[in-house]
Amino acid sequence: MENLSNIGTIKEILSKHGFTFSKALGQNFLVNPSVCPRMAEMCGADKNTGVIEIGPGIGVLTNELAKTAKKVVAIELDKRLLPVLNETLSDHINVKVINGDIMKINLHKVIENELPNMKVVVCANLPYYITSPVIMRLLEENLPVTALTVMVQKEAGQRICANVGTRLGGALTVAVNYYSKPKLLFNVSAGSFMPAPKVDSCVIRLDITNEPTVNVKSSKMFFKVVKGAFYQRRKTLSNSLSSALEYNKKTINSILDKLSIPQNARAEQLKMEEFKKLADEIYFLEKGN
Ligand code: SAM
Repeated sequence: MENLSNIGTIKEILSKHGFTFSKALGQNFLVNPSVCPRMAEMCGADKNTGVIEIGPGIGVLTNELAKTAKKVVAIELDKRLLPVLNETLSDHINVKVINGDIMKINLHKVIENELPNMKVVVCANLPYYITSPVIMRLLEENLPVTALTVMVQKEAGQRICANVGTRLGGALTVAVNYYSKPKLLFNVSAGSFMPAPKVDSCVIRLDITNEPTVNVKSSKMFFKVVKGAFYQRRKTLSNSLSSALEYNKKTINSILDKLSIPQNARAEQLKMEEFKKLADEIYFLEKGN
C-alpha cells in the first residue's frame, strides 16, 4: 500500500482495525515520507539482499524495503499489528512477517530458513526501550549480517558513534566499535513520528567487520574490563576497575603503570588498543602467568 507515511492514511487504517498505541512497546510510527526511502537506500539493500526488519509497525519502512530488497523478514511482537500488516503489505510477495520478540527469536534459524544464500542486512526503526540490548544481541551473536541500519534516540546515536577515547563515549561505544564501524547517517525530528516522542532521533549504520577490530586474548575479559572501567565513569579508572573487578588498587595500578596509562585516567579517555592491552594483562593475571 502506498502513502503509508501519510497521517490521514495511518489514522484511517488504525481506526479501521481499532488499534491504539502501546507506549510500553515503544510504538511511535513514522509519518515523515522522506525518512523510509532514505533508510531503505542507505541500508545497503539491493535485489540480492535479504533484510531483517525489527518492529514493522504498520509497515511503512517494510514497504520501502520490499521495493529495494530481494526479501524482507519483519519481526513484530505486537499481535494486534498482524492483520494491519496483512493489509498494508498485500502488494508485496517478498515480505514475510513473523510474530515474535527480537530478544528471544532464533535469528540464525530465521536467516537460514528465510534468507538462504543472500547477503543479509538489518534495517529498523527500533523500539527505544530496548535499543542497547537489541544492538548488542545483533552484534554478539555472530550472525551472517553485514550491516545494521537503525533509527535510535539522537543522544544514543551520538554516543554510539562517538570516537572511543572522547567524553561522549561509553561502554556501548567501545562494544559497538569492537564489532563494527559505526556512522551517523542523518537526524530525524521528533515531529516525524506519531505520537511524537519527547526527543529527536537519528539513523546510524554499523558496518560489521569480518574480525573484531582489536585482537584480544579473551573477548569475555575484554567486555568485563570495559564494563568495569565505565562502572563508575566519573571516578578514576583505577578506582572503578578495582571495585568492579574486586582487585586491590595496588594490583590495578601496577598494570596501569606497566601500560603507561596514568593512574588517574578515566575510562572515557582510553582508546580501543588501551582497553585491549588492559584486558589482556588482567587475563594473564587471572591465568597466573
Ligand atoms: N517500523 C515502524 C515505523 O517506523 O513506523 C514502527 C516502529 S516503532 C518505533 C517500534 C515497533 O517495534 C513497534 O511496531 C513495536 O510493536 C515493535 N516492537 C516492540 N518491542 C518489540 C520486540 N521486543 N520485538 C519485536 N518488535 C517489537
